Amino acid sequence: MRRSCYLFAYGDLWGCAAVIAVYDVFYLVQLIKVRIMSDSEHHHHSHEEGSTLTDIQKRVKALESILISKGLVERAAIDQIIEHFEHKVGPHVGARVVARAWVDQDFKQALLMDATQAINHQSDFPEVGQHLIAIENSDSLHNVVVCTLCSCYPWDVLGLPPVWYKSAPYRSRIVSDPRSVLRDFGVELSESKKIRVWDSTAETRYLVIPQRPVGSETMPESELAKLVTRDSMIGTGFASSLAGNKDHG
Ligand code: FE
Repeated sequence: MRRSCYLFAYGDLWGCAAVIAVYDVFYLVQLIKVRIMSDSEHHHHSHEEGSTLTDIQKRVKALESILISKGLVERAAIDQIIEHFEHKVGPHVGARVVARAWVDQDFKQALLMDATQAINHQSDFPEVGQHLIAIENSDSLHNVVVCTLCSCYPWDVLGLPPVWYKSAPYRSRIVSDPRSVLRDFGVELSESKKIRVWDSTAETRYLVIPQRPVGSETMPESELAKLVTRDSMIGTGFASSLAGNKDHG
């Protein structure tokens, strides 16, 4: 039931059940794609022949149709869930959290103590689920996040995970040889910098607070948020550097 926290917000138990049945990020992504492609086909009146849906997308579409026809879920509930993941959650949420942590020391301390509580106490952030843990990069330590077991990911603050996050090579190599994997991502770290790999679980999700770019000291929070990339909050990237500045090493 660990991902049900988003879904109960809709007050639709069957919607929850359906999405938990569909469950996986992969299926949710397919569902979003199917909807987008169906809309596009509808507009172009070409849905009878030459469908460009893949086999898995056809299967997802069939599953959705069956759940709806059997009355197990309402189309509106699925629409709400898709709307939520397509537009409302995403790395822009995490970026705003990080930017605030950069400018507000009290918030950062609260975030490091209990990220869920700290974020939920800020009225201008969307509510996030339990057990979110923020970890901070520094001159001596670089944090990176993985789920070695499957694909646990802080959806509330980062949205849908990138495909590579779920790939077997990333999940195994980031543990056995993090420095080399990070190099593949373009993250060159000095030998003296320690790397800590955090393994997500059903109960805990991690959000990396990347180092604030050099030269950003006078930037307002809203501008700082634009420097915070998704990968920097997973640990496989840096926050965007300002022109003329080098990345943190
Ligand atoms: Fe997982």
